[in-house]
Amino acid sequence: MAKQELPTTTGDEITLQFRAGRLLQILYATEVALMIIALQRFMLGTWGQSLIVIGVAVSLISVYLAAKKGKVDLGATILLCVLTLAITFFMWRYEGTKDETLLAFPSILVFAVIIGNRYLFSLLLIFMLANIFMIGYLNDEQIYINELSPTNLDSAVLVCVILMLVGFSIWILSSDLRSVLEKLSRENLRVLRSQKQVKKLLHHDALTNLPNRILARDRFEQALLQSKRDGTLVSIMFVDLDNFKNINDSLGHTVGDNFLVELSKSLVSCLRKSDSVCRLGGDEFLIVLERLKSKQEILQIVEKIIDVIKQPILVDGNFIAVTGSIGVAIAPDDGKDFDSISRKADMAMYRAKDAGKNSFCFYDRQMNIDAQENICLVADLQKAIKEEQLHVVFQPKIDLLSCETVGAEALVRWHHPERGSIPPVEFIPLAESSGLIIELGEWILKESCEQCVKWNDAGLQDIPVAVNVSSLQFKRSNIVEKILMTLEQTGLSGNLLELELTESLLFENSENLVDSLSRLRGAGVHFSIDDFGTGYSNLGYLKNFEISALKIDQSFVRRVLESPQDKAIVTAIIQMANSLNMKTVAEGIETVEVHQLFKQLNCDLGQGYFWAKPMSADEFLHFARKSNFA
Ligand code: C2E
Ligand code: MG
Ligand code: MG
Repeated sequence: MAKQELPTTTGDEITLQFRAGRLLQILYATEVALMIIALQRFMLGTWGQSLIVIGVAVSLISVYLAAKKGKVDLGATILLCVLTLAITFFMWRYEGTKDETLLAFPSILVFAVIIGNRYLFSLLLIFMLANIFMIGYLNDEQIYINELSPTNLDSAVLVCVILMLVGFSIWILSSDLRSVLEKLSRENLRVLRSQKQVKKLLHHDALTNLPNRILARDRFEQALLQSKRDGTLVSIMFVDLDNFKNINDSLGHTVGDNFLVELSKSLVSCLRKSDSVCRLGGDEFLIVLERLKSKQEILQIVEKIIDVIKQPILVDGNFIAVTGSIGVAIAPDDGKDFDSISRKADMAMYRAKDAGKNSFCFYDRQMNIDAQENICLVADLQKAIKEEQLHVVFQPKIDLLSCETVGAEALVRWHHPERGSIPPVEFIPLAESSGLIIELGEWILKESCEQCVKWNDAGLQDIPVAVNVSSLQFKRSNIVEKILMTLEQTGLSGNLLELELTESLLFENSENLVDSLSRLRGAGVHFSIDDFGTGYSNLGYLKNFEISALKIDQSFVRRVLESPQDKAIVTAIIQMANSLNMKTVAEGIETVEVHQLFKQLNCDLGQGYFWAKPMSADEFLHFARKSNFA
């Protein structure tokens, strides 16, 4: 169980447990031996001896009590001293060094080694030797004569020497045994510690020390059991930071990591102790909330989390602020197991991202239906590429001063046999996530190049075609070879092809990309940046590539008349492009006023419904002829 901790047993405790066990075993063996002796003495008619032995056996009950209380040293001292005294008594009282009880001394010394300590061992050995020596000496001097078979000093010395030898060998044995035991208990301790460490690593994220997915599952399952008992709700929140990659890219991974650690602390401290904030990796967190009474309560918590994520955090001298998108799913309403609830929370998180990020979304059934539809749509798209349900349309690019057509942007269209026309904003992301964009992109490129050659042949010269390229095409395919081959096959000159790239692709600035773009540039191909101004505040990447044009994003163009801020941004983009020798294209011009304004701002080209919507290749030929040769 995840919440259970490993027992924190120390090496000393292990040794103590071992010695206590041994003490009890030796005690039981001794009691049995004493009982046999008492019985035997009783049967021989030596009542006195039998009673003494029984007395010794009874007194040893105190050893049992001491062992049970963990007082091993006390128990061992009582046991060994009582036995030694009893044997000494028998030796003095009866046959001295020839008494059979003397044979028990070596056993007592062995016991002292196992359950006692060195002091007890030494004390007992000295006591035994002194007694034997005294018996021998007193018998020899005839001061005290043993009852049956008098002992003399010679035999006492002999017994002492033998006992010393036995003692010495036991001593050596004991030190070996002790060092092995110590080593063993140290090793045992090390194993226990590393087991604990492994268990922690297995269940926690190494960077933030938060529980990971395995522990999240465990916490969720425990919470669900509890919720079944008390009728409460359990919620999983899937949190994904928006644009966190920018922090890593611009400030470095160490700052990114430190930021995640600080954010984790803020998340943990804004929730109850019973809630679990878990990290799934990267900038993804999963939060398990338990014992919730209503959806209203969940709503308050998710709003609080959105707010906490938004707070700027000081990391390594930088104030960093991010936003987060959160998907929420609730058990038992949305599902009853961890996998389905977390999948649904994930789905809801993507919906929150689509809705413009920095927000949250609760899972609803429609999402599942949408997700299934998307899977079908990918299959349909695959078919569409093969069955040529797709076609390319062209939108003119207009010179703002001369109003002539100076280029065309190729835009793909899909006419689904059942669902009718599906806009590219719907199917291009699906094509990207499924990888189909590579095949699709190659087809669009070939179509566009072929059309451009036909326009040239029809007398429409020097009108380049611009093709949108997804960043995945650069990352996953041998796009440079494909483009060069298409130019060769279609016979289009490289300088009549323009590729519209995304800011995110250039921002990554991989060495591979620099190389790919410079090879294409070598073949005459031009590049423009699509939807410029929406992505990145750091424009350093612009100097690394030879870019011909910036296409100002439609959102600025649309608001340029009403919003002074948007106008200021547009003006700045145009001035910057001019000084970097790049052309500017205003996308989405719909009115004469906007056209006039961009002309005044020195923007070079425009594109939009004001002049023409995207049209077929033939229509484009007519349009361009009319505008250029009118
Ligand atoms: P984009 O590359 O920025 O294309 C411009 C979009 O703005 C086109 O939408 C175009 O029809 C639309 N547009 C042009 N003028 C106006 C106007 O005056 N008003 C308004 N409201 N819209 C205007 P479309 O064709 O729906 O394409 C949308 C996006 O889908 C494109 O944005 C591009 O990112 C992607 N896309 C389209 N075709 C392709 C393609 O062949 N390959 C790739 N990778 N992406 C494509
Ligand atoms: Mg474009
Ligand atoms: Mg655009």
